[in-house]
Amino acid sequence: MSVKVIVATKNQGKIREIKSIFNFDNWEILTMKEEGLDPEIVEDGKTFEENSIIKVRTVREEYLKQKPQDYVNYDKVYIFADDSGLEVDALNKEPGVLSARYMGEDTSYHIKNQNIIDRLEGVKEEDRTARFVCSIAAIDMEGNETVVRETMEGYIGYKEAGENGFGYDPIFMLPEYGLTSAEISMEEKNKISHRGKALRKMMEVLLNKSDK
Ligand code: IMP
Repeated sequence: MSVKVIVATKNQGKIREIKSIFNFDNWEILTMKEEGLDPEIVEDGKTFEENSIIKVRTVREEYLKQKPQDYVNYDKVYIFADDSGLEVDALNKEPGVLSARYMGEDTSYHIKNQNIIDRLEGVKEEDRTARFVCSIAAIDMEGNETVVRETMEGYIGYKEAGENGFGYDPIFMLPEYGLTSAEISMEEKNKISHRGKALRKMMEVLLNKSDK
């Protein structure tokens, strides 16, 4: 069965991770750019799920508009998109869907991370619980939508630590390791991360559906 997946992201790291999980013969994984698509995506959803669906719907429309006959060459064409972020319980689940935009898109993560630590001053360890959330949406050319959501649970530390990872990883403590998610290897993180788990779940759901 020949399948094409167009991923609504410009992030090469995410593409690599998707390729390593959806590593099947006859599955072609492409970025929007490789497919020649660059629609304007307005991420104004209130939840991670809403935002991931907004992305796949927008890219599907653009694909069908620009290449109305392309999908007939495949058994299946999917658009994939993810939306992720950090929820801190003691901060009312901020920064949430605004994780990338928190304190401004161009503000360094060193400053964003310090700000979160400062806002948690005096908050005890057991109340510093937080999670990374990842929602992944897939849509096919008939318009069928699939959405999955997974989390990686932890708590906010007292200082930044670690050089691996990105974003909020240096302040995100993983209780089972006693380390931040920036201190473990990328390979280890992919096994337990919100995004890794959501991708594997999406794979299971899609393969199950196509069996029926
Ligand atoms: P997006 O899904 O690429 O828009 O990610 C949203 C934002 O959430 C990122 O820019 C990071 O600030 C944060 N984020 C999501 N996943 C992670 C992670 O695994 N580590 C650190 N920060 C993350």
